[in-house]
Amino acid sequence: MKINDIRPDDVMADQAAAVEKDINWLKDRKDLFVKVPCPACGISDEVEMYEKFTMNHVCCKSCNTQYVNPRPPENMLAEFYSNSANYEYWAKFIFPASREARREKIFKPRTEIVRKLVKEYDISSGLMVEVGAAQGLFCEEITKLDIFDEIIAVEPTPELAKECRGLGLTTIESPWEQVQLNTPAKLIANFEVIEHLYDPAAFLKWCFKNLVDDGFLILTCPNIAGFEAMILGQESSILEHEHLNLFNPDSLSLLLKKCGFSVLEVATPGELDVELVQSCLDEKRITTEEIGPFFLQCINEENASVFQTFLKDAKLSSNMMLVAKK
Ligand SMILES: [Zn+2]
Repeated sequence: MKINDIRPDDVMADQAAAVEKDINWLKDRKDLFVKVPCPACGISDEVEMYEKFTMNHVCCKSCNTQYVNPRPPENMLAEFYSNSANYEYWAKFIFPASREARREKIFKPRTEIVRKLVKEYDISSGLMVEVGAAQGLFCEEITKLDIFDEIIAVEPTPELAKECRGLGLTTIESPWEQVQLNTPAKLIANFEVIEHLYDPAAFLKWCFKNLVDDGFLILTCPNIAGFEAMILGQESSILEHEHLNLFNPDSLSLLLKKCGFSVLEVATPGELDVELVQSCLDEKRITTEEIGPFFLQCINEENASVFQTFLKDAKLSSNMMLVAKK
């Protein structure tokens, strides 16, 4: 997978203005941001880090989760996402331009992971729910497997919910907080959702409540302890203004356990670390000295592919996936 497949250069160019607009919207409301304890371990003992895109980042001394503190309160975030120029831009331009590439490079591999999981843990029939279904590609791919009796896409963004319905998916156009399932789910999936939330623990408790006993949860999010994040620091692609919670595999496992789950699998299936570091170097946002001679060898053309495979296998990629059981 290449960055250009899922974020085509020509449509990404105009996105900067939309992002800038969103950041300014948040900046204007900074006085109303609220202090929170660590979103993973719940302890309030943090080290100040830096400000990026108007958001103040801290690191938890206890579990090394990096998080935005203070942060926009829940009602402000809801307003932010319903008016976001960046989300509108993604829905109108980036998602349509990269739809089939995303299906092949992101959603088919994810579907394959779920297919294996379903086989391994003997999950059959029942309800599967995806929270943050976006264009509905994952739900569409899962439907083809004919495993579940029912599939529900939860998607609060109107343009995206419309796309989900267009695919014939049962769609709930609401934020998860307002969703009460009639039947508990066998599997709840959410991809790149938890890093955006004001209160990740509340979301995981919602998932727990809405699963059958022995139900499964699968989620993906950035890994702040991954290669790209560690090497690039503030220049990492993980550092978006919308990302409030930057967990590492241990801290997210800890949070899942606190919310009642047993963690079954932790993996870092990310494939873009090396390419993201290389492009940061090409754009002179980082120097060769900062990367250092050893890692420069690791990411050169000859070694890039082997090194990325190593990062995945060693659970050191900057995108992680956890599977948990109620
Ligand atoms: Zn912590």
